Amino acid sequence: MSNILVFSEQRDGKIKRVALEALGAARKCRAQETDQIVAVLIGENISAQTPVLSTGGADKIYLVENPQYSRYSSEGYGTVLSDIAKKEQASLILMGATAMGKDLGPKVAAKLNGPFAGDCIALKRQEDGTMTATRPMYGGKVIATVMSHSPMFQVATLRPNVFPVNDQNKSKEAVVEQYKVPPDFSGIKALVREVLSTAGSKVELTEADIIVSGGRGLKSPEHFALIEGLAEALGAAVGASRAAVDAGWKPHSYQVGLTGKTVSPSLYIACGISGAVQHLAGMSSSKYIVAINKDPNAPIFKIANYGIVGDLFEIVPLLTEEIKKMKDA
Ligand code: FAD
Repeated sequence: MSNILVFSEQRDGKIKRVALEALGAARKCRAQETDQIVAVLIGENISAQTPVLSTGGADKIYLVENPQYSRYSSEGYGTVLSDIAKKEQASLILMGATAMGKDLGPKVAAKLNGPFAGDCIALKRQEDGTMTATRPMYGGKVIATVMSHSPMFQVATLRPNVFPVNDQNKSKEAVVEQYKVPPDFSGIKALVREVLSTAGSKVELTEADIIVSGGRGLKSPEHFALIEGLAEALGAAVGASRAAVDAGWKPHSYQVGLTGKTVSPSLYIACGISGAVQHLAGMSSSKYIVAINKDPNAPIFKIANYGIVGDLFEIVPLLTEEIKKMKDA
């Protein structure tokens, strides 16, 4: 038997969509039907979320509830996850390539002395039982397929919005087991004392299905209102290029690209963004890309599915108006 562990990231007591995507991926990676998908849910007052994980594909859920775990702790969560991985003799440990997953994944791999593949966009169980992972490298210039010869404790983080959520209803409810290990924080060097949320976009950028991004072509910060108007009409998140962020028009949390966030929405609308490689590194895996730019030779058009050559100050308000009309109709 070769169980697969899924770290079920939650934020404010709600399971993140990427955790359900990881459960869906885990079901597809099973070597045999009897392999168990084991979810690990860590936090405080989170037991109400176990049915979500059960429907998402978990066969067993470790519920690790403790006020000490209400906030993320790299070492605390890493210890819990690696202890459960050993207990379950997990061959594979999956989690989202979120800020938390990017920190936790390598930590767990190091604790278990297992191989690590980050930001995967595909996973495949080969006929001989080995796993391969596909992941963009060098800012998306190369797509590498990597494999591990280790049969145990392989750790992978999955890029959000890439893997489908499991939609096959499972007949059996997941077994929920309370994992009551008193957290020992004595040896822990870094603790999160407080989390201050920024007044950011209403929809989290990395999980958004639609993103409207603005660049230097907007010319001034007030003009971001155009981007926000279109985003609101579409129920989208707002993003920005580094040029817009460096100019102080938007905080860094909005930045898409190599030194910003990596996003994979169904639809990415780039307004007044030239398409520098560093920007493309963060959004080129979007399913559909629409570019609005007045320069017909702007590099963004090379990867756009739909391109509008023209002045964004005319096009974006028209587009917003038409989308509102369609929604009202
Ligand atoms: P510009 O390149 O100046 O493009 C503005 C575009 O707006 C032009 O194509 C222009 O034709 C168009 N435009 C102007 N007026 C209008 C109008 N009225 N209507 C329509 N179109 C109009 N960049 C990122 O975005 N994210 C990153 O994470 C990132 N990381 C980097 C890391 C490193 C190490 C380095 C060196 C650079 C990084 N950059 C990053 C910067 C990147 O190289 C570009 O400088 C940046 O992406 C340019 O932003 P922009 O497209 O908004 O601006």
